[in-house]
Amino acid sequence: MGEDIAVTNFREYLRIKTVHPDPDYETAIEWLKKQAVDLNLEFNIVRFEPPNEFAVWLTWRGTNQSLKSILLNSHIDVVPVDPSQWNYDPFGAEKTPNGNIYARGSQDMKCVGVQYLEAIRKLKATGFVPLRNVHVSFVPDEEVGGFKGMNCFVKTPEFEALRVGFALDEGIANPDDSYHLFYGERAIWQFRVTAKGQTGHASILHENTAAEKIHKVINRLLSLRESEKARLKSLENPDLGDVTSVNMTMLGGGLQANVVPPELSAVFDIRITPHWTLDSMKKLLDETCANAGSDVTYKYIQHSNITAQTPVDDSNVWWTVFKGVTDEL
Ligand SMILES: [Zn+2]
Repeated sequence: MGEDIAVTNFREYLRIKTVHPDPDYETAIEWLKKQAVDLNLEFNIVRFEPPNEFAVWLTWRGTNQSLKSILLNSHIDVVPVDPSQWNYDPFGAEKTPNGNIYARGSQDMKCVGVQYLEAIRKLKATGFVPLRNVHVSFVPDEEVGGFKGMNCFVKTPEFEALRVGFALDEGIANPDDSYHLFYGERAIWQFRVTAKGQTGHASILHENTAAEKIHKVINRLLSLRESEKARLKSLENPDLGDVTSVNMTMLGGGLQANVVPPELSAVFDIRITPHWTLDSMKKLLDETCANAGSDVTYKYIQHSNITAQTPVDDSNVWWTVFKGVTDEL
């Protein structure tokens, strides 16, 4: 028996090197065009200035154009790889005898894009025609903030014209047969803390150094990390969304080994649980920097202020329908 077309498509998609920092988006766009032809879907693309910024969406027309549409979104890009840490070619999409497929982006999130397309293929094969328009969007640059992808797309008249009423986006892959539904997202704050201080020869114990200051910031934020880690372990049903994650992801600064540096920096990635207010996090951050000494500042790299969650009760007609179907399944 030959390989299922869903698997073949998936492996083809994985072999396209849409990897940062220089993703091959044009090959992916061509591949999506081919999918649109195969599935008899409308292929749409909007390009922004400068090139390499775009959004693609495939449209399955419903029978009632006056109704709001459904948007199924996934991102095309994948995070960088260190091939020396891999047992397989990260862009080979090799399949082992037990059916496992290895490639960067297999979970995050090319599997989802392919699943949307395969769901449409299967529904079409049964003769099903949707009531509403269904749009399957494929966007670039999600892994670096979405500034060149979804961020531009949502501001276009083309997006407005889709009249989206309900959207499914990224979740987290599950290793078993359960389907986890995510109806909210933690607010992402990525920021660089910079500490400036007295410079000089490293044989002397200067006052007011950048290292002493950044040390205080790192200590405070990593102690928050510890307490949130402990809290996660103590929860009856541990779920990352219930806690705030804190990670220090980059360190920078320094001139040479015997020079006390005028400036040191640390980058943090913090994902704030919807159970906390963003104001409380802002206060903690401001106080942490103020307590670390003079000339300690921070600058956002990414800063989300979205705390809204999808209501999962009877007030939300979309949710009621969605839940009804999954309950039946
Ligand atoms: Zn992702």
